[in-house]
Amino acid sequence: MEVVQRGEGNGNRMIVRLRLPSGLEILGLPTKNFYGGDWDLGPTWNYLILADRPFLVDTGRTGQGNALLEMLKTAGVSGKDLAFVLLTHGHEDHDGGLPEIVQAAGVRVKAHVLYDRLIRCYPDDAPSGVNREFPASCWHCPMPASFSTKHCRTYHLERSRLEVETIGDGETSIMKSVVSYHLPGHSPDALAFLLGEEVLLVGDTLLPDISPHPTRLRDFYHLARVFGPDYSNGDSIYGLRAYIRSLKKLARIGALMEQLIVLPAHRLFYNDRWNQMELNKRVEELLTHHVARCAHILESLKHCPMTAGELAAACFDAALLKGTGIVMAENEILSHCELLQTSGDVISCNGERFEATGTSAFESAIEELEPDR
Ligand SMILES: [Zn+2]
Ligand SMILES: [Zn+2]
Repeated sequence: MEVVQRGEGNGNRMIVRLRLPSGLEILGLPTKNFYGGDWDLGPTWNYLILADRPFLVDTGRTGQGNALLEMLKTAGVSGKDLAFVLLTHGHEDHDGGLPEIVQAAGVRVKAHVLYDRLIRCYPDDAPSGVNREFPASCWHCPMPASFSTKHCRTYHLERSRLEVETIGDGETSIMKSVVSYHLPGHSPDALAFLLGEEVLLVGDTLLPDISPHPTRLRDFYHLARVFGPDYSNGDSIYGLRAYIRSLKKLARIGALMEQLIVLPAHRLFYNDRWNQMELNKRVEELLTHHVARCAHILESLKHCPMTAGELAAACFDAALLKGTGIVMAENEILSHCELLQTSGDVISCNGERFEATGTSAFESAIEELEPDR
């Protein structure tokens, strides 16, 4: 890893270059995030792949598109030279800069087929109780309206007008020596990209330092009509079980290609140090983390039923439970409770509290989960 431009200790303002044995060059182009606090992700690491025709993976958050176009110039590339932009998934810190880039350079966009469905608005189809002004991706946003009105309205509107060339499930060839893998769980449309047999761009599905946030199966139910009959099984694209299957899929890829360089979308460089990830080791660590979290929840429920908020207080550091951190922590707890309900270890009583059934089947249930294909 060659540092082309020095930056800050968390990676902001850095530019790095990777030269691979095959001759392929990749530039790491981090763009600022402003989430801050104890849930800080650091910048989003977008990557410029200098293939025969260069392409960009991810675009940073809203307002960072033009900054990213400036950074491309380091490699003598302009927006108009890009063959396309590939998206690892439809979270705002990855596709927020996209409208700016499309507007400035007329670039083609490639993303998973579910991305194309989630970014659209369906005011006539939206179920009751959701915000029908928002695209399907945000019907279940846990953030308060004060947050969304301030931060995401314009983003959603611009994003809903994008033209997207869709990528399917499983393993898909994008161009020569570039293959995508559908790895739902952190988001239903998450993709990883394999370049030759040298580099795997994993987006947010595998991160150093932090455990990626899993979705909740519950979020699928209202979306079924948007997704259609091809995606009728929510468990395969939403929730912690889907995420764990995707981790195991990554481990399979890692077992076939031991020398893979893994490039994450956050924390490549953070706290003044590089975070190298060994694919299979990191997958194991994350699996262990989720088993431990489930065990901690069951242990906490031993004496009395508890709400998600009470479980969050039992499982997370107090520092993480400030402001919107509470929403994040509760969501993560609820994702684990869904898995525990599926394995029969927990039931939900009065729709609010969770109660332990006395069994402990989750660990073997997690072990038995197999990647779809
Ligand atoms: Zn994400
Ligand atoms: Zn992210």
